[in-house]
Amino acid sequence: MNVIRMIKIVSDRYPEKGMMDMGKAEDTLIATLLSARTTDKQVLRVYPVLRKRFPTMKALAEASLEELGVILRPIGFYNVKAKSVKALAKQLLDNFNGIVPHTIEELMTLPGVGRKTASCVLAYAFKIPAIAVDTHVFRVVHRLGWSKGKTPIEVERDLRAGIPEYLWIEVNRTIVQFGREICKPGRPQCEKCPLAKWCVYPNKPKI
Ligand code: SF4
Repeated sequence: MNVIRMIKIVSDRYPEKGMMDMGKAEDTLIATLLSARTTDKQVLRVYPVLRKRFPTMKALAEASLEELGVILRPIGFYNVKAKSVKALAKQLLDNFNGIVPHTIEELMTLPGVGRKTASCVLAYAFKIPAIAVDTHVFRVVHRLGWSKGKTPIEVERDLRAGIPEYLWIEVNRTIVQFGREICKPGRPQCEKCPLAKWCVYPNKPKI
């Protein structure tokens, strides 16, 4: 099946771990939450500062919004993100004894955590098969013809149906990197693309 072959080609090209694969579940959870409307690189610059100042969930839950806002200012939407991080830490402590849950349903009860963030936590932190459909995955899989879904959940459903479960974790990690470097949002670099012969994107730039 070509989709399997394509994932393997991209996976070989990008063997490094995903940027949000941070080892500890709480780190992946909070960093992914903070990555909304900014770049992972910016989050990874700010995140160590945040955790140095507030190393425990209790410290984060009790942090002042003002101080959180100052630390989070470089990543934008810092007031909203400060409230989300504080509320998330509080609810993790209140409802889960400070331990990140490992089901999508429980994760999505946490403030600010949508399906994409929950799927990233499952895939990266717990190695549980899940497909996080972010903006890169959404764009690239449309161009490749893997899905015509109009929403992330429709795309996720198509990907789950068309890709064997053992490769689900690979989808976000590899396609995000491929989408950043080659199948870019503006002008895709089709001339360098290892998947070009399978791609059905009708607006490929002329080489
Ligand atoms: S051929 Fe171009 S549009 Fe298609 S996947 Fe490759 S980079 Fe993206």
